[in-house]
Amino acid sequence: MLEVTNLRAGYGAINVLWDVSLTVQKGKLTTIIGPNGAGKTTLLRAIMGLVPASAGSISLDGKVLNGTPTWKMSDAAVTMIPEGRMTFRDMSVEENLIMGAFPKAHRAHMRERLESSYAMFPRLRERRKQLAGSLSGGEAQMLAMARGLMSDPQLLIVDEPSLGLAPLVVNELFEILARLNDGQRTIVLVEQNTARAVKVADHVYLMQSGKVALSQKASEVDLEHLHELYFAR
Ligand code: ATP
Repeated sequence: MLEVTNLRAGYGAINVLWDVSLTVQKGKLTTIIGPNGAGKTTLLRAIMGLVPASAGSISLDGKVLNGTPTWKMSDAAVTMIPEGRMTFRDMSVEENLIMGAFPKAHRAHMRERLESSYAMFPRLRERRKQLAGSLSGGEAQMLAMARGLMSDPQLLIVDEPSLGLAPLVVNELFEILARLNDGQRTIVLVEQNTARAVKVADHVYLMQSGKVALSQKASEVDLEHLHELYFAR
């Protein structure tokens, strides 16, 4: 279980997150939605140690995460798939996947994880020798997801995966997210696509101006009410 308690964080003198508290249940998909600039990405960055917390705490299964350097997060079984995919454009699809399991602890599992990546994303198998920079937006997002899964994380954090993708590809992406939410893996999903995110999630947090404005079970969310809150200033 991921527990964020009264977290404050920002950039230099600018504070963005104001006493944010949230709980992400093990094996569930929690989505964080909210308008542009609400602080969703900053929250993910703080969890990953990319933005320092000025107050509050972040813990995973009771172990404090604050202060853990980002490069050690894969030891803590936490992986983030960043907004914008960030694949290694001059490397092949397969080389990108291999990078996802590069830390020593994962190398022994490289082959079996490559196989399960290709089983989940058959198009990546077809294109395994192709340079990542020449993939379509949807394929690049699939690659970023598959690379994130190569370290078999306990907690997978996905930032805005549907950004800039065509509707059909978005459908495919949400089908994959639904499949990943198999009760084993804990997923945090930040999305602009509110209705789709709520549909695939177990729990929903709405952020507004650096604060949590709503925390609700996805099955209990009234989308109309959610949209009213979403656009409230
Ligand atoms: P979006 O949906 O547009 O990605 P978001 O909810 O993820 O928005 P953040 O990216 O966390 O929001 O941004 C929250 C606030 O922090 C914004 O006002 C933004 O301008 C500011 N901010 C983000 N990155 C930086 C940075 N590197 N330096 C200073 N301010 C930043």
